[in-house]
Amino acid sequence: MTTELYTASRLRVLRQCLRLHYYRYELGLAMPQSDEARFGTVGHAALEAYLRTWQAGELDARLDAALTIVDQLDSEFDRVKLRLLLVAYHERWGAEDWDILAVEVEFRYQLGEHLLGGKIDAIIRQRTDGRVYVLEHKFTGVETSLGGAYWEKLTIDTQVSIYIDGATMLGYEVAGCIYDVLKRPGHEQLLATPPDRREYTKGKGCRRCGGSAGGKDGIVQGRGSYSVVFGAEVKEVPCGECDGTGWKKNKDGVPEAPRLHANQRDSDETVEVFEERLLGVIAESPDSWLQRSVVVRLEHELPAMRNDLVDTIAIAELCTTREAWPRNGDACARFDEIRFPRGRAHPELATAI
Ligand SMILES: [Zn+2]
Repeated sequence: MTTELYTASRLRVLRQCLRLHYYRYELGLAMPQSDEARFGTVGHAALEAYLRTWQAGELDARLDAALTIVDQLDSEFDRVKLRLLLVAYHERWGAEDWDILAVEVEFRYQLGEHLLGGKIDAIIRQRTDGRVYVLEHKFTGVETSLGGAYWEKLTIDTQVSIYIDGATMLGYEVAGCIYDVLKRPGHEQLLATPPDRREYTKGKGCRRCGGSAGGKDGIVQGRGSYSVVFGAEVKEVPCGECDGTGWKKNKDGVPEAPRLHANQRDSDETVEVFEERLLGVIAESPDSWLQRSVVVRLEHELPAMRNDLVDTIAIAELCTTREAWPRNGDACARFDEIRFPRGRAHPELATAI
């Protein structure tokens, strides 16, 4: 039997659905990348550039290095989202007193008779106390408030244990895992209201130039001018009351022409206005978009975590022996086998085992 490589991703798939594991890791089928997954991939690459520049000691060049990567996203609105997140990340965490010891470092280690492996985003040392941490980034669209379900799950996440064991095998004495979570804004471009659903206020016609502001005549726009007789000549003079608009001015001096209801739009939001709106949202509470928590594994917890890994792998191997990969209806109903293009089993790693 060949030695199978187990990564944190593979173990997650195993727990999710055995049949999915069969498709993904036995047949080598990959799922087409969703826009959200693509956002995470490019965001990850941007932070990698950020950390590599940091590692090289060019602190002032870090943000620009990260922003260059953003162009890999197709949607200009997604580019705005990622750019603003990266700027906020730099503002929030850029002043950490860290040495970057390693970036995107792969590891392999033996657990019993199994081979575990993966790639760590970075390994850093806090200069203040000399402690070393695994640094891990996650981009997510889900609710991430501290103390919520997202973080609760992390405390038993086998990934953290694998990374701590992996970093230890690489020769680092690791105090824990610093988890950076960047929440992808769910905001979308505001689109114009379809013409057949637009509703307008009525406006107020200027009486001076022949309009009507209501009553039995209803709303009628003024002509904006009126006729004046100069001797034999008739001249059309602009109406000063409404500045020639035909609509009565309100107390602020603005003509009250019919306009779209406040919650409707006559045009799509531009990317510039979208950026301004999103900047306001992120600036209002940066902490809800960028969260960081240190996950520690106490020495006495690690054996139980390792047992979980070994037992999960044992299930996979039993399935291989029996050539049976039971479907998990809860997880599998979402997938359509035919759409899966072929891909490498561990696309996140540079080399196969
Ligand atoms: Zn008028």
